Amino acid sequence: MESKEWQAPGSLSPSSLGAFTACPLAFRFSYVQRLPEPPSAPASKGTLVHRALERLHDRPPSERTLEIALADLGLAASELAAHPEFAGLGLTDEEWDGFVVEAETLVRRYFDLEDPTRVNPIGLEIKLEAKLDKVTLRGIIDRLELDDEGELVVTDYKTGNTPSERWEQKSLAGVHLYAVLCEQNFGRRPSRVQLLYLSKPEAIVAYPTDSTVRGVEMKSGAVMDAVRRACRSDDFRPRPSALCNFCSFQEFCPSFGGDPAIAHAVLHERARDAAGQPPLPMATV
Ligand code: SF4
Repeated sequence: MESKEWQAPGSLSPSSLGAFTACPLAFRFSYVQRLPEPPSAPASKGTLVHRALERLHDRPPSERTLEIALADLGLAASELAAHPEFAGLGLTDEEWDGFVVEAETLVRRYFDLEDPTRVNPIGLEIKLEAKLDKVTLRGIIDRLELDDEGELVVTDYKTGNTPSERWEQKSLAGVHLYAVLCEQNFGRRPSRVQLLYLSKPEAIVAYPTDSTVRGVEMKSGAVMDAVRRACRSDDFRPRPSALCNFCSFQEFCPSFGGDPAIAHAVLHERARDAAGQPPLPMATV
């Protein structure tokens, strides 16, 4: 069969960089073809908790209490309930209440990790871009703050499970990418980047250096080169791992007997059906 040439994405983010490294074929589905994926309860719970913590840190320090954080969670839930990401979960009223209770547990655990009245945020949910030699990086910093010494600190909330030691290094690779984004945009390297894993709860802290910054530049450039090569040669191989259990594209993966070539047509038709729209002619990519 004749292979096609794909248009490579214009930039990489911490998640897309990790996705290509984990499985090039899943990366193609998500970031090259941008195929629709079904809403995911864990991802939506993360969105809800992030929004509640954003609201909390937007308040004066004296108001950042647990009681107000839970009220902010309620406001965030009302604000997001009708959003397609949440409505698409198709939860019953009872399931929705359980979903919000689980998010509440994560907000409570946040208070076990730090005292928000002592945090000095200077930016929340900041979208940043950094142009390096070979690649443009993009990312959203959950929280940028100044510590007691006036140094920049980047905080990223994680609502999934705490990584095992094996995965910790991968998470830290993403963390150092935030340091590069911060340095390029604000002219200063953060003294510390921290991942707050709310489910355990546990904080993982990294201290960026010249060497970690160089490591990000080299690794992200090498991944972008590999992405461009894969796009030119239409060579995105599946890389089966434990992550396959969470992959939305398993039915189209050759490792599971599927055909990647039909993914676009099938998933777009399903998305149209879900939105109650009439079918369109079959797409070819
Ligand atoms: S099922 Fe596994 S190997 Fe296949 S595309 Fe998904 S992550 Fe990759």
